[in-house]
Amino acid sequence: MKKSMIIIGAGITGLSAGCYGQMNGYQTRIFEMHDKSGGVCTGWKRKGYTIDGCMHWLVGTNPANSFYHIWEELGVAQGWNIVDHERYISVEGEGGKVFTVYAHIDRLEQHMKELAPEDKDVIEEFIKGVRDCSHVSMPIEKAPELYSPIDGLKMMFTMFPLLRFMKKWGKVPSRDAARRFQNPFLRAAFSTAFVADFADFPLVFMLMTLAWLHQKAAGYLVGGGLALSDAIERRYLSLGGQLHCKSRVDKILVKNDKAVGVRLADGTEHHGDIIISAADGHTTIFDMLDGRYIDEKTRGYYDNPKLFPPLVYIGLGVARSFDNVSSVAGMSFPLDKPITIAGQEHKRLGVQIYDFDPTLAPKGKTVLKVQFNTDYDYWKKLRQEPERYNAEKEQIAEQVITALDRRFPGLAAKVEMHDVATPMTWERYTGSWRGSYEGWLPSAQSIRMHMSKTLPGLDNFYMAGQWVEPGGGLPTAAMSGRNVTQIVCKKDKRRFETTMP
Ligand SMILES: Cc1cc2nc3c(=O)[nH]c(=O)nc-3n(C[C@H](O)[C@H](O)[C@H](O)COP(=O)(O)OP(=O)(O)OC[C@H]3O[C@@H](n4cnc5c(N)ncnc54)[C@H](O)[C@@H]3O)c2cc1C
Repeated sequence: MKKSMIIIGAGITGLSAGCYGQMNGYQTRIFEMHDKSGGVCTGWKRKGYTIDGCMHWLVGTNPANSFYHIWEELGVAQGWNIVDHERYISVEGEGGKVFTVYAHIDRLEQHMKELAPEDKDVIEEFIKGVRDCSHVSMPIEKAPELYSPIDGLKMMFTMFPLLRFMKKWGKVPSRDAARRFQNPFLRAAFSTAFVADFADFPLVFMLMTLAWLHQKAAGYLVGGGLALSDAIERRYLSLGGQLHCKSRVDKILVKNDKAVGVRLADGTEHHGDIIISAADGHTTIFDMLDGRYIDEKTRGYYDNPKLFPPLVYIGLGVARSFDNVSSVAGMSFPLDKPITIAGQEHKRLGVQIYDFDPTLAPKGKTVLKVQFNTDYDYWKKLRQEPERYNAEKEQIAEQVITALDRRFPGLAAKVEMHDVATPMTWERYTGSWRGSYEGWLPSAQSIRMHMSKTLPGLDNFYMAGQWVEPGGGLPTAAMSGRNVTQIVCKKDKRRFETTMP
């Protein structure tokens, strides 16, 4: 008889775990609290427009990249429509100066040298960092938890260029990298492009991203987050998996320190041989399991959380098109009048103009998206007063539209739709702790932060996803679901198998 597996949460991790569980002969069921799958990898429709809530770049869109294989197994890569941007971001300064982070490394190097000839040496070192990263191939076939000593040695050998490289760049925070430029415009623009609110973020992640963009291995999937999660959901259902939406898990049922099932918010109980939580880590450990299974190290992470900050996310539908503005992370321009959000003043506005995705807007019209990092506690408190909460959202939309109208004269009159999401929106729809959209924020100090996929003293239970894979991201989520299935198979003495659709 098939062993049964219950998966909590139908984000990319949960869907992936479900697909690989089905491929390996488990009878899986996913319980998802929202009315659709995808988790934070989503989008929402408003007045004929679709606001993408997730995707900037998807690592693994080139067959030469190791993640491509996973997207194939999950039924995403077959026939997908990928846009490879020429630019990562354009940062406008005063007096018409623009720093464009080109995806092509040679072009980027030339452009940076034209902007700041005095920074030639620092630019060459930075560009070399990107080039070095492009030689690194991530070994992702096997879950690191299952490495034998020989696998470890093989990995060291494959990753040798990266280890050397990590030694040099892994501990450099983005903030320090920006300070090395003498040229004031390049220093400030580099800071806007790569540092912004992520000053402690290790520069190495940005170097890797630029390397992937150069290789056309981190494109945008047309249709955005919804296209990705819909494709994996289809694959899951075609493999025979069962998806139960509007099914919030309140408790994980435990008998003699063995996870044996889940209790839903409607009071029904469901039993399974293996329980995997791909939901928010805090809810899993402290609410579903009442904090009974946790070691001091993990508790320390939760007591003193360093998380990706939550967002205020403004989507606009405008009845006009744009010329040649497409890029991975949009454009940033200075504001003559700062925008205040949750008590914090912003002197720049970053806007993503989705002129490259015709599926998101009616013909001749475009979706724009503006996002700001924000303070969770501010919004939590404000949410208690619905009228003030809604008024604040309207006032933010107004400020943003006014600022965009100054940069693109006449735009305000063309706005047909606006929508403002806050940390409360993420919390409500995905349960994500403190509204964080990507879990633990790596810093130069915590780059080697490791979290276990099991909890001490609890058998038959696993965790997967961005709350046990610091840094998060879509490929990591898909890989985490794959890895946790490998771990389960190993425990059950089964050979891990994959299939292609
Ligand atoms: C604005 C934004 C931009 C991003 N940009 C990128 C990008 O460009 N590239 C990239 O690689 N990544 C990006 N990410 C990150 C990426 O989307 C996430 O890291 C990834 O989708 C996380 O997947 P997950 O399945 O681990 O977690 P989640 O998506 O959080 O999934 C958890 C699931 O569990 C469900 N759940 C929670 N509690 C319960 C419960 N009690 N009962 C039942 N179900 C429950 C939730 O509803 C959710 O569906 C972005 C994210 C956001 C929000």
